[in-house]
Amino acid sequence: MNDVIHLLPDHVANQIAAGEVVQRPSSVVKELLENAIDAGATKIHLVVKEAGRQLIQVIDNGRGMSVKDARMAFERHATSKIRTTEDIFHILTKGFRGEALASIAAVAHVELKTRQEGIDLGTAIQINGGKIKNQEPVVTPKGTIISVSNLFYNVPARRNFLKSNAVEFRHIIDEFQRVALAHEHISFQLTHNDNDVFQLAEANLAQRVLHIFGRKLEGQLVPVGEETDVAKINGLIGKPDVAKKSRGEQFFFVNQRFVKSGYLHKAVQSAFESLISEGLHPSYFIFLTINPEKIDINIHPTKTEIKFEEEAIIYAQLRAAVKHALGQYQVTPTLDFDRPTWDVPTLNRKKEIKTPEIKVDKSYNPFKNPSGYGSSSTPKAGGSFSYYKLEEESEPIQNQIIESGINFKREVLQWHQSFLVTEFQDDLVLIDQHRAHQAVLYERFIKKTKGNSLSQQLLFPIEVHADSKEISILLETEQLWISFGFDFSFEKDLIIVNAIPADITAEMVPSVISEFLASDYREDGLKYEEILARFMAKFAAVKKGTAMSTEESKHLVQQLFELEQFNYTPFGKKIYRKIDLAETLRMLD
Ligand code: ADP
Ligand code: MG
Repeated sequence: MNDVIHLLPDHVANQIAAGEVVQRPSSVVKELLENAIDAGATKIHLVVKEAGRQLIQVIDNGRGMSVKDARMAFERHATSKIRTTEDIFHILTKGFRGEALASIAAVAHVELKTRQEGIDLGTAIQINGGKIKNQEPVVTPKGTIISVSNLFYNVPARRNFLKSNAVEFRHIIDEFQRVALAHEHISFQLTHNDNDVFQLAEANLAQRVLHIFGRKLEGQLVPVGEETDVAKINGLIGKPDVAKKSRGEQFFFVNQRFVKSGYLHKAVQSAFESLISEGLHPSYFIFLTINPEKIDINIHPTKTEIKFEEEAIIYAQLRAAVKHALGQYQVTPTLDFDRPTWDVPTLNRKKEIKTPEIKVDKSYNPFKNPSGYGSSSTPKAGGSFSYYKLEEESEPIQNQIIESGINFKREVLQWHQSFLVTEFQDDLVLIDQHRAHQAVLYERFIKKTKGNSLSQQLLFPIEVHADSKEISILLETEQLWISFGFDFSFEKDLIIVNAIPADITAEMVPSVISEFLASDYREDGLKYEEILARFMAKFAAVKKGTAMSTEESKHLVQQLFELEQFNYTPFGKKIYRKIDLAETLRMLD
């Protein structure tokens, strides 16, 4: 008889385990940052190149490792943090499974340099694909420098599964922010492709939140605090006014570890009920401190999910704490942030920022603007256009729109300043004017990215607040914005819009940018250009309640039916409804 079962060699076992722990560059970031924290570091610098594909390096000033430990650290189930199963229930460190370094080393080139206090020479180790290549004494600062390069060099399937650098870097920023929020007394720095993305000095929680998310939250945070035998709750919540369309700023930490919990989220959301409108998400940064014996964080290898023994009590306590905080903020002043002394550009600006100067012209009618339908050919028509100049080349395009003429043969009637009524074959057709215009504009914007967008220079640039993560998204997608006709510059937590596409007006710009940033890049699988075109169309389209001339109505209907896709808006909404002749006859019978 042949025996067929054998034990896997360690490097194979480690590669398999790596699949669980190391899904993408941000997983490496998380593990390395956590190790630095567990090592008692007070200063941690994360250096990333090419969204972590090329390099992920963490430099800490923690306690370092001995010569033997430096080697042991890469063994599977090698940890200094627990000894017995019982220990798992008293965990106060981030790590304890002892598999991160082994897993990372199995799928990358890793170099470790480490030195303990009071020892002259440190240790350097190189490991490729789990195999130690070299170990030698080295001169290195106290602490640990670990460099992970060529991630997934030996696992092409994983490598190919990675998303664009923009997406991967956002995941890295997510992990960095989570760790930095939970450890405000540690100073953190993040450098990406030689640019400093974050420089976070040691701070208190409120300052840390502001340093990360920018000035838009200044004066908008309310403290939460409540302690019972079951849990201690502390943290900050954003006032209802700063609730956002995206879920970006929602953080729970349990014993200083970021966790995801739909259940806890509901507790907070329900406390906000009726204070924020539907579709908006409150910002919160909430820390729970719970006896480690009463939670189980071991249910997922990346340890972001958690089970609570006293779930219902915690839910009620959290909800009450948030309600209480919300109730108080109207009467008590909000947090008075101590100005940090460190060089934090966000708060240290000498010059006063002027609020964005966006003039809203109530009588604005998109059909009277140069990019609308042909009834107007004067580029300066409408008050909202008096404060910027159109670039010269706009003229020929204007003419094209008008010259294309209106040849829609049927009558079109506007109903209730919202719908256009016309006939099509035997049917009566009721068209939603706003949705129709959205679809028309969307197609136009998508086509224009192919290189002929018109840009209008703004005499008064618009300033939009954004945090570093949002700015990094715009930087990564800058070419796209330029192809649409935008021109940006950046100043720490501000996006300065110098030029915009001719098809939209200045007052639409902040909404377009914020919706773009809020759209969930992970779920909808759309291309960035489609997302941008969608939001531009949404804001530029004629609103319901806008009177349209017969000519404008006809032109819109004609343009609609010339589209390839005229049934649904780019957001998937139905554009029109047909009223069937036969059915009408029966109805009136
Ligand atoms: P775990 O964190 O679960 O113990 P890891 O594989 O992440 O497992 O790390 C293995 C061990 O290596 C740790 O228990 C710790 O003793 C040591 N170690 C890892 N990173 C560092 C660091 N930056 N400084 C000091 N020791 C470290
Ligand atoms: Mg670890």
